[in-house]
Amino acid sequence: MTILARRLIQFLSLALLLVTSLPMAPLQAADGSAVGTGNWSDQAETSSLDLASGWEYRWGDSPFNESGIPAWTLDTDPANWQAIGFPSNPPRRDGRRHAWFRITLPEGEWRDPVLYIYSIDLIAQVYLGPRLIYQYGDFDERGEGRFAGWPWHLIQLPEDFAGQTLYFRVYSNYIDIGLWGEVKLMDRLALLEHVLDSSAKALATGLFSILLAVLAGIFALVGTQRRSFAAIALFSLAAGTMLIAETQASQLLANRPLLWDTLAASGYFTLPIAMGLLLEHWLTHHGRLLRSLWQLHLAYLVGAIGATWLGWIDLAITFPIFDALLLVTLPVMLVVAVRFVALLSIEQRLIIVSYAVFATLLLIDMAVAHGVLPWQRVPVSFGALGFSLAIVTISLWHYHQTQRELHQLNQSLERQVTERTSDLRQLVEKLEFFSYEDTLTGLKNRRHFDEMLQHEAAVARRQGTPLALAMIDIDHFKRFNDRFGHEAGDSVLAGIGELLRRHFRDSDVVCRMGGEEFVAILPGATPEQAEQRTAALIDEVRGLRFRHRGELLDSITLSCGIAAYPEHAEDPLALIGLADKALYHAKHQGRDRSETYPVE
Ligand code: GH3
Ligand code: MG
Ligand code: MG
Repeated sequence: MTILARRLIQFLSLALLLVTSLPMAPLQAADGSAVGTGNWSDQAETSSLDLASGWEYRWGDSPFNESGIPAWTLDTDPANWQAIGFPSNPPRRDGRRHAWFRITLPEGEWRDPVLYIYSIDLIAQVYLGPRLIYQYGDFDERGEGRFAGWPWHLIQLPEDFAGQTLYFRVYSNYIDIGLWGEVKLMDRLALLEHVLDSSAKALATGLFSILLAVLAGIFALVGTQRRSFAAIALFSLAAGTMLIAETQASQLLANRPLLWDTLAASGYFTLPIAMGLLLEHWLTHHGRLLRSLWQLHLAYLVGAIGATWLGWIDLAITFPIFDALLLVTLPVMLVVAVRFVALLSIEQRLIIVSYAVFATLLLIDMAVAHGVLPWQRVPVSFGALGFSLAIVTISLWHYHQTQRELHQLNQSLERQVTERTSDLRQLVEKLEFFSYEDTLTGLKNRRHFDEMLQHEAAVARRQGTPLALAMIDIDHFKRFNDRFGHEAGDSVLAGIGELLRRHFRDSDVVCRMGGEEFVAILPGATPEQAEQRTAALIDEVRGLRFRHRGELLDSITLSCGIAAYPEHAEDPLALIGLADKALYHAKHQGRDRSETYPVE
C-alpha cells in the first residue's frame, strides 16, 4: 500500500507538472483573435475531433527512395489506395505483415494540435506528406520489428497540417493490423484531460480492489475460511493490478508500455485462477473439474509470462491464446456454477450472479478487442468490483456464521464434558463400591471386613482357636470437626488409620467401618488379650497431638467395645452387634475407655 500511495502521489505530481508545462499563451482562435483561457473543459470538448472517415489503405510496404523518403507518400495515383471505414484490419490480409493507411487531415481551430491514438497493432511510422513525424517501435531494414506494448500515442502536429495527408506505415505479425480504438485530433490539453477522464474510474476501482486484496489477505492469514479469503485476495489483487496497469493514466506514471502490459496480462491471466480456486471451494461437487481448469490457467500464466520475460515470444501473442482458452474455461465455470445454483445458499447464488456479470463483461471486452463488436469501453472494472464486493460481503457473513457455529460447538462440547464428568464420577463411585480399600485412611473397608469376618470365623471354628472383635470409635468427633473443620478432621482420620495399622499385628484385619468408626478382627486373641491391646491403643491416642497445616490440634480420645468368639456368641457374625453394645457402654461410661461384652 505504501508503494501504491507513493505512486499515486508521483502520478498526481506528474500530471500537475504536465499541465503546468503546457504552453500557457492565450488561446488563439483560427482568425487570430485571443479567445482567453476561460473554461478549459469547454475548450477541450469543442477541440476534439474523431478521425472516423476518409481513411484509405494499401497492403504491403512502400519502397524508399535514396533520400529515405517512402515512395508511397509521393505517389499521386489514387487507384493504388482503397477506402476503409476505420484504419484497422483491411480485407484480404493473406498473412501480410505490412499495411499503409492514410487520411487527409481536416481544417480546424487548434491551439496546440496533437493526434491521439489508442492504440496501434503493433508498430508504426507516421508521415505527414513525405516527412516522418512520429515513430513507435523499432523498424529493421526489412521494415519489421518487435511488439513494444499497447500504449496510447500523442503525435505532435505542425501548425500547417490542415489539408495535408497523414500516412501510417504499420507492421504487425499479430492477428490484428492497423490502428485500434480511438483516433482523435485534439489540443494537447484536451488529450491530457481525456486520458485522466477515461482512467479515473478504473484507477479508483483498481485502488479499491487492491485495498480489498489487503483486507482479504489479512483475513486469509488470521481468520477461518482461509482458502476463500486467499482466493478473494488473489482475485482482488489480480483485478486491481489489471485495472491500474490498463489505465491510460499509468503511462503518465511511467512510460514503460511493455511493463504495464505485462502487469495487466499477469493480472488478467490470474483472474480465472482465482475464480476457479474460489468456485472449487464453494462448489465441491465439481471440485476436480474446476481444479483442472484453474491449474490449466496457472500453467498458462507461468508459461506465457515466463516466455515473454525470457524474450522467447512477444507478449501480444499471449493475449489471443489466453482469450481462446478463456472462451472455453469461462463458460464451463459459468455452466458448472449455474447448474448448481439450485443447491446453493442465497449468498452463494449472489456470488454466482456477480461472477456471471463479470464473466459476461470480460467476454464482451474480449469481443471488442478482437473486433467482433464495435469499439467501446467495456466497464470491466465495475464487474470486477461488483464481484469482489459480493465475495467480501459474503465471506464476512460466513466468517460471522462460522464464529457463531464455533461458539455453539463450544457450548455443546462443554455440556458434553459436564455430562461425561458426572458419568465418570458415578463410575468412580461404583468402582469404589467394588473396591476393598478406603481411600482416606488406606485401611481396608467395610466390604472387606464383611468377607474377612466370615473367613476368619471359619478358620477359628475349624481350628478351635479364639477370635476377638474390637469396635473403635473416635469420641466427640462431630465437635472436633465443628471446631477445626472437616479437612482437619480428615487428616486426623488418616492419622488414626496409620496408627491402627502400626498398632495391630499383620495378621489382624483392621478396617474403617465408615465415618469415624473402625473395627479390628483379632484372630487367636482372647477377650483379655484384646482388652489389653485396645487399652494400649487408647492410652497412646490420648497422648497424641495431631497437626494440620502447621496448626496443633486438640488431642482426641477413643472408645472401644470388644466381643469374642466362642465365649460371647456361637455365631461369629453376631459379634458385631455385641461389640457395638460394649462400645455403646464405653461411651455411656464417659468415653476414652474400652469395654468388653457382656456389660451390665
Ligand atoms: P461420639 O463420641 O458419641 O461418637 O460423638 P461423635 O461426634 O464422634 O459421633 P457422631 O456419630 O455424632 O458423629 C460422627 C461425626 O464424625 C460426624 C461427622 O462430623 C464425623 N465424620 C464422619 N465421617 C467423617 C469423615 O470422613 N471425615 C471427617 N472429617 N469427619 C467425619
Ligand atoms: Mg464418635
Ligand atoms: Mg460414631
